[in-house]
Amino acid sequence: MLLEARAITKAFGSFKAVDAASVTLEAGDILGLIGPNGAGKSTFFNCLTGDLAATSGRVVFEGHDISELPPEARARLGLARTFQVPQTFEGMTVLENVMIGAFLRTAHRAVAEAKARAVLARVGMERLADAPARALGTPGRKRLEIARALATEPKVMLLDEAMAGLTLHEVNLAIELVRDIHRSGITLVIVEHIMEVIMSLASRVMVFHQGCEIARGTPQEVTANPAVIAAYLGTRAAAKVAAGHTPIELTGGPAT
Ligand code: ADP
Ligand code: MG
Repeated sequence: MLLEARAITKAFGSFKAVDAASVTLEAGDILGLIGPNGAGKSTFFNCLTGDLAATSGRVVFEGHDISELPPEARARLGLARTFQVPQTFEGMTVLENVMIGAFLRTAHRAVAEAKARAVLARVGMERLADAPARALGTPGRKRLEIARALATEPKVMLLDEAMAGLTLHEVNLAIELVRDIHRSGITLVIVEHIMEVIMSLASRVMVFHQGCEIARGTPQEVTANPAVIAAYLGTRAAAKVAAGHTPIELTGGPAT
């Protein structure tokens, strides 16, 4: 087992954004994590990476309890992530942004630069190396986040809505990139609202609603699950679906 989260809870005051959520990740998985807006997906990611301290629960990576480690230490072990809202350094170039990732493994500027250039080539951004990050649009920023994460040489990558805001064509390009990353041996957890992306990439899916897991299974199983449909659409729409008035389209859903 590569990564295991045991009963992670994250409370903000009396409100539990994540409520005793557990997951196990085997090497080679592509796990989809879905759920309506506000379900706690990003908060769960933050607890896995250490960007937020969980209120309770444990995170185990390759057999080591990493629950108390800061994000940098978790990244050094091989846990990388992208942010739902890209955290690019606007005044720096694209290359420099990716070098920040590479500096996790080396203190040498030339080594970091070579690594960053190789990663930019891999994600198809080499011609943008010297552009300021602020010049990028949404697709470029999302891809830059992926590049920076790749430059840390991760074993696991957590992608938080890496395809939100992209056109259909850009989504298809991003799916290819994710497939390529997976083929290179990186295990993935993807939070994504676009169900086509989950359907075409994820081998299994877990569904969050109000901080709790409400379903898990194959993409086909969870999207046919009445509890999942109800979480997204409300019970009346779910009843229609159950009565055969498909298709269902699981989008962001109402804020909970
Ligand atoms: P998702 O990523 O599934 O859309 P989030 O993890 O972003 O959901 O948020 C889950 C819930 O926790 C939401 O109700 C959100 O408003 C709340 N929340 C997230 N971060 C904070 C915070 N720093 N302080 C208080 N509430 C928060
Ligand atoms: Mg989120």
